[in-house]
Amino acid sequence: MSDCIFCKIARGEIPSNFVYEDENVAAFNDVNPQAPVHVLVIPKKHIASSAAVDDSSVWSSLMSSAVKIARKLGLEENGYRMVINTGEQGGQSVPHLHLHLLAGRNLGWPPG
Ligand code: AMP
Repeated sequence: MSDCIFCKIARGEIPSNFVYEDENVAAFNDVNPQAPVHVLVIPKKHIASSAAVDDSSVWSSLMSSAVKIARKLGLEENGYRMVINTGEQGGQSVPHLHLHLLAGRNLGWPPG
């Protein structure tokens, strides 16, 4: 997807400091953080949303990367939240699958 902003970040066409990267996944800080820690974990391959995932290895790479990042950032003791917004009512604003890793404050429940 040539005009997808997260594809551009994954390809390095938009400068970003990756918190984590491997062959399948990239992770970077959210530009509009909703918590002291707010990292986005994305597949490098373009997938429009969680609803479009047809290969379960996408989930293993996304989730295991998020847990690795949480360990690396020392978030385990106080806890963290992983969120994947999907579609319009799910609050998804960027049509490239991404996992939000949020931490550093008490997070409310239920979400808005
Ligand atoms: P969602 O609303 O779940 O689709 O989340 C999209 C997220 O992407 C929002 O939290 C935005 O702040 C974030 N975002 C949009 N553009 C960028 C960007 N260029 N760099 C980092 N985060 C971004």
